[in-house]
Amino acid sequence: MRRFWPILACLALGPVSGVPAQEAPPAPIRHDAPISSDTRPPTRPESDAPTPPGKPDEAPEPAEPRAPAQPVEEAGPPAWKDLRENDREYAACRLALSLLGSVYEEIQPVTDADDPDCGIARPLRVTEILPGLELEGGAEMRCDTARALGFWARDFLRPAAATLPDSPRLTGLRLGSTYSCRARAGTGKKRPKLSEHALGNAVDIAAFLFDGAEPLPVQPREDSGDRFEAFQRSARATACLYFTTVLGPGSNEAHDDHLHLDVKSRKNGWRLCQ
Ligand SMILES: [Zn+2]
Repeated sequence: MRRFWPILACLALGPVSGVPAQEAPPAPIRHDAPISSDTRPPTRPESDAPTPPGKPDEAPEPAEPRAPAQPVEEAGPPAWKDLRENDREYAACRLALSLLGSVYEEIQPVTDADDPDCGIARPLRVTEILPGLELEGGAEMRCDTARALGFWARDFLRPAAATLPDSPRLTGLRLGSTYSCRARAGTGKKRPKLSEHALGNAVDIAAFLFDGAEPLPVQPREDSGDRFEAFQRSARATACLYFTTVLGPGSNEAHDDHLHLDVKSRKNGWRLCQ
């Protein structure tokens, strides 16, 4: 019911491609949401897509004993603030996007009234991840996410598309969620953790778009035995070289029609690729 949230409108500063790093203005102003680190909602909405028994959720982690309730005033800073890149990291990331030829714009920090942990400190709105390779409708994300998407698209998706019948050129990605303030999908837990989508770390790919060929939707393709199955399998496998989480058809019911990719940071660089 809530697999694809509409991509939020942005506050654009103007198209940028290969422009030197520039500090994003610090003042947050999105969604009429005051930035507050002191108020957290008691619960996050439950997913509408339960995980089948024995199937992992979006990012399973060992069960931990529930910590005693903390006074509100002791809550740490919002999760999105913890992910704010320092100036050097941010400049390096934007340089990578320039080398890739990405088309994007820096936008104002994103916050959300639904949950003070949701947001992006230095968001980009990306319209072309590579020259001539559009993100349909544009998408807001952290620079790290865009960089992973760009290298994956350049090094694997485009070459792989050339192996499809009639060698179509990959010209677009149809997206599901990118930034979305919500809990993880498909966990079936009463209080699921915050989704990486709520931090600008994730992108969902619903279909690959080509010049002169039909869109190729992400869907269960087991044993179809054709090149389209091979393409989807290859895309999913190679994504794990750039993203730390890769989920898709078969991971759980919530991911049967898209690839979920995120750059969540885990201990020792551990990756969850299914
Ligand atoms: Zn996702």
